[in-house]
Amino acid sequence: MRLQAKVLVVGGGPAGATAAKVLAAQGTEVILLERNLSFAKPCGGGLILSAFHEFSIPRTTIKKEIRNIKLISPAGEHVTVELGESGIAIVQRKEFDSVLREQAWAAGSCVLEGEFSAITGNTLYRIEAWTGDKKIEITAEYVIAADGVNSKVRKALGISPPASLFALSEYIRGVQNETCEFWFGSSHAPGSYSWVFPAHEGISLGTGHFSPGELQNLFEKFKIRKGIKAEGLRKIYRIPLWDGGLYQSGRVLFAGDSAGQVLPLTYEGIYYAMTSGALAAQAILLGEMNNYKKMWKYRFQKRFVLMEKLRSYFLKDDTTAERLVALHKRPEIQLASRSLWLMKDSHKKSFLSYSGLIRKFLH
Ligand SMILES: Cc1cc2nc3c(=O)[nH]c(=O)nc-3n(C[C@H](O)[C@H](O)[C@H](O)COP(=O)(O)OP(=O)(O)OC[C@H]3O[C@@H](n4cnc5c(N)ncnc54)[C@H](O)[C@@H]3O)c2cc1C
Repeated sequence: MRLQAKVLVVGGGPAGATAAKVLAAQGTEVILLERNLSFAKPCGGGLILSAFHEFSIPRTTIKKEIRNIKLISPAGEHVTVELGESGIAIVQRKEFDSVLREQAWAAGSCVLEGEFSAITGNTLYRIEAWTGDKKIEITAEYVIAADGVNSKVRKALGISPPASLFALSEYIRGVQNETCEFWFGSSHAPGSYSWVFPAHEGISLGTGHFSPGELQNLFEKFKIRKGIKAEGLRKIYRIPLWDGGLYQSGRVLFAGDSAGQVLPLTYEGIYYAMTSGALAAQAILLGEMNNYKKMWKYRFQKRFVLMEKLRSYFLKDDTTAERLVALHKRPEIQLASRSLWLMKDSHKKSFLSYSGLIRKFLH
C-alpha cells in the first residue's frame, strides 16, 4: 500500500493524537499511524481537570475526580494536600487514547493501524510501516515522532534513547483508595517513590527505580508497607527522564515521551505530551519548525528546570524525603505546590515564590 500526506504522525497516544487533531482541524492532510489501536498504556491515568476544557476532551472519559493527595514520608509522617476545585481526573488510558484518536479522525486525520519501521530521505520523507505482514509506504513532508519512550523513529534517525526510570505498576480490582498517595522511602523506592492511585474499578499502584532487576523485590516491600495482599496484573514500563535535548531532527519533530517530556519529580507526562503535540503541530502550520522548541521552552522550560532541581534534591535519600513531606505541612508550601502542579500557565513569579519558600524553610 502506498500513501501520501503532508504530515505523518507516528504514535497515536496523547501526543500524536493531539498533534493530528490540531493539524487536521486546520485542513492539513495528516496520517496518524498507531501500532496497536487497542493499546492500554501502563499509566496511573492522572491528568489535571483543566486539561479537559483546554483540549475539549469529553468528561465522560473521567473515571474518578481526586480532590486531595497524600504524601507519606519514609518514617510514616503524612500530610494531605487539598487540591480544591482544580483537582485531578483519573482516566482509563485504553479508552482515553482511543477517544483522542477518534477526535483526530473526526477533525479529518486518516487513522491507520501499522507499525513504523524505517525512514529515509531528507526533503521528502519515505516511511516504511507494517500492518501484519503487509508493507505500507508513506511519503510525507513532515513527521511528528510521538511513538513514546521506546521511539523507533528516534532509533531510525540514529538518536540514542532517553535515560529512563523503570516503573512497575499493578492494577488490582476490588480494592478502593480515594486519594492519590505518594510513598517515599529507600526501603522500597530509593531515588524515586511508590504510589497508589484510584483506578476505574480498583487501584493502580507501583514503584519506580533506576534498575529494572530490583523492581519486583522493591515493589513487594512496598506492598508489605502499604498492607496490600491482593494481586493483579503487573507491567514494567519505562518513564523517560527529561533532559530538554531533543525537539527536532530535520523536519521530524519529537513530542511527548519520545522527547522525554515528562515532568521531573511527579513524572506526569499526559498533559505535557498533549501540549507538546499541539505545539509541534502549530509549528508545522506556521511553517516555522524552529518555533516548536521556542514555544515549548516559553511554556515549560522554567517549570521543568525547577522540578528537576527539586527531584534531585528531595529524592536523594530518606532525610531529604522527610523534609519534602514536612515542608508540605506548611500552608504556604501547599498553596505554592498546588499552583506549580495544577496551574500549567503559572508564570515566572510563581516559580520564584516557590523556590524562595523552599529555600526559606529548608534553612
Ligand atoms: C507506570 C506509569 C504510570 C504513569 N502515570 C502517569 C500519570 O498518572 N499521569 C501522567 O500524566 N503521566 C503518567 N505516566 C506517564 C505517561 O503515561 C506518559 O508520559 C504519556 O503516555 C506520554 O504520551 P505519549 O503520547 O508521548 O506516548 P505514549 O502514551 O507512550 O504513546 C505512544 C504511542 O505510540 C505507539 N507506538 C509505539 N511505537 C510505535 C511504532 N513503531 N509505530 C506506530 N506506533 C507506535 C504506541 O502504541 C502508543 O500508542 C505514567 C507512566 C508510567 C510508565
